[in-house]
Amino acid sequence: MDRPEVRKLVIVGGGTAGWITAAAFARLLGQRLQIELVESEAIGTVGVGEATIPQIIRLNAILGLDENAFLSATSGTFKLGIEFVDWGRKGSRYLHTFGDTGMTLANVAFHHHWRRSAGTAPDPKGLWDFSLHQLAADQARFGKLDRVGNTAMTGLAYAYHFDASRYALFLRDYAEGRGVTRTESIVESVARDGESGDIRSITLKGGKEVAGDFFIDCTGFRALLLGETLGVGYRDWSKWLPCDRALAVPSERLPVLVPYTRATARDAGWQWRIPLQHRTGNGHVYSSGFTTDDAAADLLMAGLDTRALGDPRPIRFTTGRREAFWAHNCAAIGLSSGFLEPLESTSIHLIQSHVSRLIQLFPRAGDPSAMRAEYNRRCEEEFAQIRDFLILHYHRTDREDTEFWRFCKHMDVPDSLTHKIALFASSGRVGRDVDDLFRDASWVQVMLGQEIVPADYDPMADQLSEAQLAEFLANLRMLIARAVGTLPTHEEYLARHCPADASLLAA
Ligand code: FAD
Repeated sequence: MDRPEVRKLVIVGGGTAGWITAAAFARLLGQRLQIELVESEAIGTVGVGEATIPQIIRLNAILGLDENAFLSATSGTFKLGIEFVDWGRKGSRYLHTFGDTGMTLANVAFHHHWRRSAGTAPDPKGLWDFSLHQLAADQARFGKLDRVGNTAMTGLAYAYHFDASRYALFLRDYAEGRGVTRTESIVESVARDGESGDIRSITLKGGKEVAGDFFIDCTGFRALLLGETLGVGYRDWSKWLPCDRALAVPSERLPVLVPYTRATARDAGWQWRIPLQHRTGNGHVYSSGFTTDDAAADLLMAGLDTRALGDPRPIRFTTGRREAFWAHNCAAIGLSSGFLEPLESTSIHLIQSHVSRLIQLFPRAGDPSAMRAEYNRRCEEEFAQIRDFLILHYHRTDREDTEFWRFCKHMDVPDSLTHKIALFASSGRVGRDVDDLFRDASWVQVMLGQEIVPADYDPMADQLSEAQLAEFLANLRMLIARAVGTLPTHEEYLARHCPADASLLAA
């Protein structure tokens, strides 16, 4: 059905999703759109979401944000990856880094050279002897490094940790400075066009009506527009990702600011630790089918590395996604569109990726149905790929010490993941989909980290003689150690370039 020109955009919700959406639309379509964002302080935001992946650097570049100003305002730190503790089995530990391990040589990915050198009884941990990120993380160092020496070895890839509430405020300043109007109120009802079924307007507490041509639902888990009003259903994936609750609590800052997130497996879920400059973010994600809220709270508090600064705050969720991400004249972005639990810090990335996709496919006028179908198709694929990557962490474990881990180990998983595991286990090959967010290096690290050791390696790795292989590996270790030795500590880097705002440190 043809629509008139889209002139007025209404965003409902002012959490991370609402303000990223407002900022990006203001930056890229602000000239032709009038943008209004409605949010309610009385309802508030989910208040978590403090760890990111490197794609956020692209968002900051599009918005033209200054990295140092952004990190100072949000008490941010740098993140080289996620350390997984006790996942493959109790006592295991590996870093899923944002970078490569070693380097490709003779057109063969590094892990095949490593696998060849490891012989008949390989210890999967050995791969990380060739990780620049691992060594920098071990020594709590950080700096800007594009390459290792004069080699083709890539340097440090990084993302950020930041204070979620400060992040939304920072983006709000940005968006309001570019013409976005903010209205503080509760949406009480939504009116639809009798003929098309499109959303026509929202009515706020007190009776004010806000009309629009296109609506973006950033109302969090409630999904007020796409879910409640338009009736788009939810596809529940908790049979594969059974965690459905979280408890979040801040604690004092870590004595040494390490440049990585930690995810420690617990009896019925896992616990996060996110280092910020002024405090530490902690949370316990767990399955209510396998433990109680009280036991989960006790485990969280007992597992803190620094003194708690409050009581644990509960959050409930269902892992899955909306049946459609855009229906009629409304798209859902953020938690309203689905949630894939925070294990690999992918939610803020999904916000940014959905916003940029929506902007690329945004209708000007006329019939938007082909654009809508394309948007939904690509969002669906993206969700499924991330889902499989997350399931891998739970499923490939030797742990059988609790009912939760026995369930995860023995559950059926999607065929797409079964295939990827079989391919890697037999040959070290990665069956990555072309658009997959996670690169080969990520799949390799998590497969090996979860102790799937390939039975064989790429025969092209045999191009190197035994002596050449040994020399190559020794050189890599030496070059990595030398490169890390030149970096400042993470604390020195932050103090020099982006110390947190004094108001935050005093708080
Ligand atoms: P919310 O923050 O819930 O915002 C909803 C907004 O809608 C609010 O402004 C609210 O006031 C408004 N609203 C709702 N109803 C109405 C109404 N009727 N009228 C007016 N306004 C209304 N992501 C990551 O990338 N990294 C992480 O480390 C991470 N950790 C997480 C840990 C947990 C336990 C959870 C649950 C999520 C985590 N996430 C993480 C996800 C991340 O928190 C969210 O993606 C992000 O905060 C975006 O939330 P949102 O803006 O969609 O929703």
